[in-house]
Amino acid sequence: MNAELQTQIAFRLAGRKPAAGADDGGAGLRPALLARYRDLTALRYDFPLVLARGAPDKDYAQCLSGIVDDAVHRVAGDDGGERATRHLLRLEREIRVLLAGGARGTLTALWDDAAARLAGGDASLQDSLSRARKALKADGVLADCDESLPALLLKHAWGVVRERKTRRLGEDLRRLTIGLSNILQADAARSEAGRSAEGLKASIGAGHAEVFDFAAMSRLLGRSASRDGLPAGRRRRIESLLEVLQSQRFAPVPDEPQSQDRCYAFTFGSCAEALAAYRERLPKAVELARSIAVAELEVKGEYREAAHDALFADFGEGGLGQEALAGLPDYLICMPANALHGAETDRLMELLSAGLPVKVLVQTDDLLEESSIARDGHFALGTRAKQLASMAMGLNDVYVLQSSSSNLFQFRDRILAGMSYPGPALFSVYSGASGDGGGLSPYLLAAAAMESRAFPAYSYDPSAGPNWASRFDLEANTQVEADWPSQEFWYEDENHQRVRSAPAFTFVDFVACDARHARHYARVPRADWNDRMVPLDEHLRRSAAGAGEAVPYVMLVDAGNALQRAIVDEPLVRAALRCRESWHSLQELGGIHNSHAERLLAREAKARAEQPQRAVAPSASPAPAAEAAAPEVVAEEKKSADAPYIETPRCTSCNECTQINDKMFAYNENKQAYVADPDAGTYAQLVEAAESCQVSIIHPGKPRNPDEPGVAELMERAAAFA
Ligand code: SF4
Repeated sequence: MNAELQTQIAFRLAGRKPAAGADDGGAGLRPALLARYRDLTALRYDFPLVLARGAPDKDYAQCLSGIVDDAVHRVAGDDGGERATRHLLRLEREIRVLLAGGARGTLTALWDDAAARLAGGDASLQDSLSRARKALKADGVLADCDESLPALLLKHAWGVVRERKTRRLGEDLRRLTIGLSNILQADAARSEAGRSAEGLKASIGAGHAEVFDFAAMSRLLGRSASRDGLPAGRRRRIESLLEVLQSQRFAPVPDEPQSQDRCYAFTFGSCAEALAAYRERLPKAVELARSIAVAELEVKGEYREAAHDALFADFGEGGLGQEALAGLPDYLICMPANALHGAETDRLMELLSAGLPVKVLVQTDDLLEESSIARDGHFALGTRAKQLASMAMGLNDVYVLQSSSSNLFQFRDRILAGMSYPGPALFSVYSGASGDGGGLSPYLLAAAAMESRAFPAYSYDPSAGPNWASRFDLEANTQVEADWPSQEFWYEDENHQRVRSAPAFTFVDFVACDARHARHYARVPRADWNDRMVPLDEHLRRSAAGAGEAVPYVMLVDAGNALQRAIVDEPLVRAALRCRESWHSLQELGGIHNSHAERLLAREAKARAEQPQRAVAPSASPAPAAEAAAPEVVAEEKKSADAPYIETPRCTSCNECTQINDKMFAYNENKQAYVADPDAGTYAQLVEAAESCQVSIIHPGKPRNPDEPGVAELMERAAAFA
């Protein structure tokens, strides 16, 4: 073993920095796959969002690019929109630049600012921008993907649902108030005071004094009117109902601005505050729900004291079911994950498990702070928030959504569904806004966390069906079947040749975004690259069978986008393995590589494989035809034990094997892999493909070239897939 390799292995195992050659770590580097994203203002992507005012529910959050595309479509001229597109894309970029510089405001305000900065003396540009401005169909606050986004977006979604609920409640309250008041007025009109000359004058109005003889009218009514007024009990009940409906503080009533002013606030920064407010208001909520139910009966004239008095006397806190609560606004709690200390976590679980009407945002800003208990490579990874989300799913009736903020626009419908869900909901969001990203934007850090499985996105909707298959959804993650997603990546090598690769984006790539953990990486100069260096994802696949002397590396780029290999120490490798384990658990919940299903499939495959053997087993008096068939079957079995093959019907089309060698492995018409040509590559590639295959269905067979280098070690590795 040469000295350089020894140094690299020493770094991997003991974290000892190389004295020379490899440099001092990963500071200033970023994952190679992020090399293209240096200037986000030049990119068209999901952000910023416009938190639209007054738009239909489904359009409550729109992305700026979509709005600009719509505007282009509306003002496109004879040139098919080419000029408008050019001008409006400049405007869109300018708005992004303004936001990146700290500007905040509504779309129209920033649109005007950006247009003023751009237009100058360009009449054609001015014309496009002003026509597009007039054609704008949406407006609202612009929200960029930063620390404030999760709370802004979720409050906006919650506001959309609350507005819908309180409008309905306010209209009901108005209708019932009018109905109850009419009953009292009608009764008053029948009373002696109501029939007096003064009473009639007051109800009809003094303006008619000249045409009406109120005294004569009073005498007339007095002779003909019934003497029966409202029973005293009913009158008291109606007056008391009116008092409750008119003083309630849960929803504004249309055309009563003062009712808006006295409404309770429903947004809180902690569970303690929300729980205290909920408990304090509960008697009022019960009273309002009961009053609405009684008032509905009263205005229809269906209240029967004999039956309903007893019923509503028992209408207490225990009787306030979800249906009654569903009409009142939900409580929104927006809190940072680091506020989830013992007592606050207990309160949150109490809120969720009691089915209280709460929607909770738990925001994690830093995934990569090191654990205070077990340092060195033990990252917090939003553990508190993740555990909370798992526990909430275990309660079965809590809506749960976990996502990086970069994915929130894609999850906008699920966010609205969670806010509309008639029970508690928990939203766990990683913002990417903290840590030491060395100039990487929160958007990129959040996207990297999701891509690397450090913070996968999923939702659990108890109303979607009776089982996990219908409730749990993991599909928003890239290449959900794989351990790590990979993307095509082109670079120029030392001979200035374009080289294609498809590196995986692993947890270690994500950690490389944060300068606090540079000590876990050591850059290796090209001159010291050797065949013991293996890509980290491959190293992780092999680690179950023992990594031996392999030195795992990831591909990073420096500030000038020069490609680097950085080797990685053991604590980081272990952290990546833990991250992969967590991802595997989520995959199982999502029915991907489900161990129970795979065991069942393996059992069935074994049973199927045994069937021909039973058919050719020697019997006391074999039929001549069976005797003739037996040698052929035995020969076929012998051949398949030596030749490589794939259990094609079980292939999940993940591309792993075809990326290793697309001549050796190919897809059939169902896009399932088979061994197209076992001689089109090496035995090492066959073994590597078998190790890469997520569902372990590639069987490398025996080496076709017994002289291939390292064949003994390869056969040992292949034995696991015999
Ligand atoms: S055989 Fe395995 S590695 Fe190849 S595409 Fe199918 S599932 Fe992926």
